[in-house]
Amino acid sequence: MAVPRNRHSNSRKKKKLSHQAKEKVNIILCQNCNNDNLPHKICPHCGFYKNKVIKLKKESTE
Ligand SMILES: [Zn+2]
Repeated sequence: MAVPRNRHSNSRKKKKLSHQAKEKVNIILCQNCNNDNLPHKICPHCGFYKNKVIKLKKESTE
């Protein structure tokens, strides 16, 4: 197994880790139902996209 020759300083370690941060996910509010939604996606709550309802909400069978 490879063993590091020299210890990395704290700043060098943090510089390396600065490239591994998670990117923030952009979340928008649905214009129809005000629930969280991803941009350019049909709203999973009401099926709203581009100013009209595309996918109707599936009603559970009773
Ligand atoms: Zn919606």
